[in-house]
Amino acid sequence: MPPEVSGEFAWVAAPWGLALHCGALGPVAHGWTTRQLRLHRTPEAERAGWAAIGEAVGLSPDRVVRLSQVHGAAVHVATNGLCGIPEADIALSDAADRVITVQVADCAPILTAHRSGRFVAASHAGWRGTAADVAGVTVRALADRYRAAPDTLSVAIGPCIGPCCYEVGEELVGAFRSKGWSEADCQRWFVRHDGRRFLDIWRATADQLERAGVPGAQIFVSRLCTACHPDWFFSYRRDGPETGRLAGFIRPVPA
Ligand SMILES: [Zn+2]
Repeated sequence: MPPEVSGEFAWVAAPWGLALHCGALGPVAHGWTTRQLRLHRTPEAERAGWAAIGEAVGLSPDRVVRLSQVHGAAVHVATNGLCGIPEADIALSDAADRVITVQVADCAPILTAHRSGRFVAASHAGWRGTAADVAGVTVRALADRYRAAPDTLSVAIGPCIGPCCYEVGEELVGAFRSKGWSEADCQRWFVRHDGRRFLDIWRATADQLERAGVPGAQIFVSRLCTACHPDWFFSYRRDGPETGRLAGFIRPVPA
């Protein structure tokens, strides 16, 4: 049995088994994979994995847009050509003939949809992305590109490492401070227990979204920790660099 989810989240059937789904994202086809889908190990497995993600939203393998993620906050607009794998951590799209994706193993896979379903984003944020305000950058990029106002967006954060398991060093707090985050933000996002520090990416991302103008009632956190559920999720922190990858994927509805 998959880990329990609540609120708008549900497990739905997918070509590889189960995908996580968030009903609050409205009419867009989307989801997050589990370790039932391997996106790693061999090129063949990887190709088959991405093809299965296309199939999950009714598209052929050549319609799957991938990013070469670099832990930054650069934006790729997936409206034009489908050639190559652009270097970016945020993808935007209004093209219903393709699906945009991000891949993670502990980092946050963030999916955003306009209430019409016509404009969407997929974003990747680990600690570097969170410090770079990937969530806020995504919201502003959707407004710039599509005039999608922040209060018309719903945002869902899929499985990623939780504050239960993401122990970090004190220097990370310094890295956030140097990016301009306030002492209050750092106190809220870096929780202490037993004299140790843990980064709460769920809370930081939700705070950044609210600050960018997304109403709190339109922000949904799955609260599924990748490190806590070895049977269902890959985790870099738990398994090391050879672990597999999970994907978040989203396809807008036609204009
Ligand atoms: Zn955990």
